[in-house]
Amino acid sequence: MSNKNDQLQKLLKKITPRAALPKPVEGFSLLEHGLLCVFVRFVPQERAESFVATLRKSYPEWNEMRVAQTDEIAGFLKGGRATRDKLRGVWEPAREGREYLQEVFQRTHGMDLEFLREDVPSGAKMLAQMPVLGTAATCQLLGLAGESKVPTHPALVRVLERTGVVAKGNLRKAKDLSSHLPAGEGTSVLERVGEIADRWCHAKSPVCHECPLVDECPFGKKAFQEWKVAQARAEAHRQREDARRSALEKKERERLDREAARLAKKNEVIRAKQDREKQKRAAVEAKKREADAAKQRKQAEIQKRKVDAQKAVVKKAAAAAKQAAKQAAKQQSAKKKAPAPKKKPARKARRR
Ligand code: SF4
Repeated sequence: MSNKNDQLQKLLKKITPRAALPKPVEGFSLLEHGLLCVFVRFVPQERAESFVATLRKSYPEWNEMRVAQTDEIAGFLKGGRATRDKLRGVWEPAREGREYLQEVFQRTHGMDLEFLREDVPSGAKMLAQMPVLGTAATCQLLGLAGESKVPTHPALVRVLERTGVVAKGNLRKAKDLSSHLPAGEGTSVLERVGEIADRWCHAKSPVCHECPLVDECPFGKKAFQEWKVAQARAEAHRQREDARRSALEKKERERLDREAARLAKKNEVIRAKQDREKQKRAAVEAKKREADAAKQRKQAEIQKRKVDAQKAVVKKAAAAAKQAAKQAAKQQSAKKKAPAPKKKPARKARRR
């Protein structure tokens, strides 16, 4: 066992917990101690204790805090209502504290954890999943509730079994895990094992490929290999999908190009046809214009001929009139020159 402990201690040195566990406070209930575990993640223990004391005064029933607004809780922690800006530093602890109470309510349907003192193993099962409180803090509560220093919490058992510190199934009836963890380091071991359980060693999907213990953890090594195979398969699948998608896209591009070329050709034919029709229309119009012009010219010629004919008639008439006038003048002149005819004696009347 000691070899195993050494092995685990070596592994745990690779882990740096995000938060330390508080020192238990005399007079705090288990529920309040959980609240303290949450607050020490944000402020030093002394201030965290004063937060718990303030809230205990502000909310006679913890359920009232569970259903309260975070701003209101933060206001109590700050010592009075204030804007969100001024609540900086207390708003986060207030929100986490409220979420912790909500988590307790969801797991136990109440706002009291004192029942854990009666049956710690059942309590450990009930509180197996406490993401807000965390595994290490839950184990500390369970430890305070019973005599055991390190209770048989499912998450701790899982890490010990997977890392090969204990054989699978060996802890089924164990009431305390202290003997399986390196001794003499206070809560530090619990904090580190809890960190592994909370961040990577999840019950259903452990994130072994990100876990710092993967190179030494038997379960992790196997899971990591499987993960790598799955990743390689996923990558191959992704590449096949990419190739298939590229081929489809290429096909689609070619189809669109063909379609565009077909349309361009069709448009070209339509344009050529339109051009031919346009030219034909222009030729017809030119011909028509030509015919109209010829017609107009012909009409103008006819008109001119008519005018000329009329002019000729007028001219002829004028010449004839002139001739007639001349003739008349001539006759007149001849008449004047000729001797006057002798008057014949008037015939006597026959009666004589
Ligand atoms: S490597 Fe995997 S199985 Fe091992 S402790 Fe880390 S998460 Fe758990």
